[in-house]
Amino acid sequence: MLLTGCSAAEPASDGEVGDRRAATQRSASADSAGSTSAGPAGSAPRRSTAAGSEREAEREATEQEDFVVVLDPGHNGRNAANLDRIERKVPNGRGERKQCNSTGTSTDDGYPEHAFNFAVAEQVRTKLTDRGVRVVLTRTDDDGVGPCVDERAAIGNRNDADAVVSIHADGSSADASGFHVIYSDPPLNDAQRAAAPVLARDMVAGMSAAGLPTSNYIASSEGFDGRADLAGLNLSTVPAVLVECGNMRNAAEAAAMSTGEGRRRYADAIARGVLRYLDG
Ligand SMILES: [Zn+2]
Repeated sequence: MLLTGCSAAEPASDGEVGDRRAATQRSASADSAGSTSAGPAGSAPRRSTAAGSEREAEREATEQEDFVVVLDPGHNGRNAANLDRIERKVPNGRGERKQCNSTGTSTDDGYPEHAFNFAVAEQVRTKLTDRGVRVVLTRTDDDGVGPCVDERAAIGNRNDADAVVSIHADGSSADASGFHVIYSDPPLNDAQRAAAPVLARDMVAGMSAAGLPTSNYIASSEGFDGRADLAGLNLSTVPAVLVECGNMRNAAEAAAMSTGEGRRRYADAIARGVLRYLDG
């Protein structure tokens, strides 16, 4: 019953960021379908790869100040106490309506997904900010309600984000484990068609490089999952993915998610994925 228990939520709240991205705009064009194997099709313009010299490294670091990344910690701490507010219907981007937000799942011991998502997002923010990336969170604490998934998407769009990463943990059966990265499929716009699949691939590659295993329970496997039902992804006009870090109903992953050290590992993995994408 808790299969995909958390997936009803997506991007959100706000923060104004200017339009400083002109110079680094990465609209759809280049082909970077990637040499590596599986994963969604797609392409996106990549930034030139930095070479080895210190000077170039400095230049690359400076360039990252032009990037805006929206991190979207799924759900919120007071959703469960405000079901009347989060159960109202909002557009899902495909002509239908879905619930504004959901409570998310938890470990068997009661550690809630919303707390995990927020803690990891804060740490990812720090890692990206340290690299000069401008980071906007869709919610600024873990003690509120919502925002709704359509508003979460709007935050990424308003900020003209180079990348939007929704952070979740799944609630599946006990033997399910591993992470997977979801993108909107079939795509509804150029960002979904070209750039989001690249972001998804880079996220899977970055998280794998950090030592996290890909999902053993998502049919498409290899860490990817294209879905049509997630409003936050559907409504995004900038590259957006949703990361299910692991399964809170799996004992080993629940134990990891419940510790600071474990959450640091997830945050490091996600930051790697984002930087891999931004670095091109
Ligand atoms: Zn969730």
